[in-house]
Amino acid sequence: MSKTIPEPLIREVRERTDIVDVIGEVVELKKQGQDRYVGLCPFHGENTPSFSVSKDRQLYHCFGCKASGNVVSFLIDHGKLSFQEAILKLADNLNIDTQHVELSPEPTSEGEMMREGHSLATRFYHHLLMNTEQGRVAYQYFQERGVNEEAMLHFRLGYAPRERSALKTLLDKREFNLKLMANAGLLQVPEDGRSSYDRFSDRVMFPLHDIGGKHVGFNARALVKDNHPKYLNSPESALFKKSNMLYAYHLAKPVARKKDQVVLFEGCMDVVSAWIHGIDNGIATLGTA
Ligand SMILES: [Zn+2]
Repeated sequence: MSKTIPEPLIREVRERTDIVDVIGEVVELKKQGQDRYVGLCPFHGENTPSFSVSKDRQLYHCFGCKASGNVVSFLIDHGKLSFQEAILKLADNLNIDTQHVELSPEPTSEGEMMREGHSLATRFYHHLLMNTEQGRVAYQYFQERGVNEEAMLHFRLGYAPRERSALKTLLDKREFNLKLMANAGLLQVPEDGRSSYDRFSDRVMFPLHDIGGKHVGFNARALVKDNHPKYLNSPESALFKKSNMLYAYHLAKPVARKKDQVVLFEGCMDVVSAWIHGIDNGIATLGTA
């Protein structure tokens, strides 16, 4: 979060912005009662509206996928903006002059950039799974194994498409350093020196986080038999140390604290299945005993 966008500007933007106007730009909202507006949720596919915006409280909530937040988090989650960009966009809407606002620099450390790349990849793969024709095969794979949409959202499951330049194109467009993204394990550099391509292709994706909940890698399962190996992890990197990883630990942690225990499973899929059946403190190691 920015330390250099002045607090008063953030406050002014929040006070003067109406969430109904901002969300109304992307969701067709219908007024229902004094305070409530409803529409089709922009975060998950649906035919009957379960997405609700409160004018009084300046908050949104989806009863389907549980997306919720205020106007700033909407722009971050839906518009894929950074906190700074969200504030500036809202200021712009209000015709506030922001020319002289000094922005804090973009993340500079390599570790930070690698995590940003992973975070973008997670959102991209998740979107493909949830919302696209391309991702249908992965969606069906999960459904056949009893994985419902709630679990897909909870674990941010995804689909890496067959096309081997999809993620690379996106990273390039967002001006990521592609060499660094190869070091981070998102791209693969062929030994003959030709240009890099997506490491993961035609696989269902389980995002992996460090114990602080920061995104650092993937566990990916092949969808077709001839795609070897069947399970592919992110390679070891400054970010990702397989032996230190516990799948879903950041999700299980708050529950584990209450129950004073975790349940150890063999694989990511087992953790997801267990969660659906009410075991919400499950974790898994990654292919090491
Ligand atoms: Zn929703």
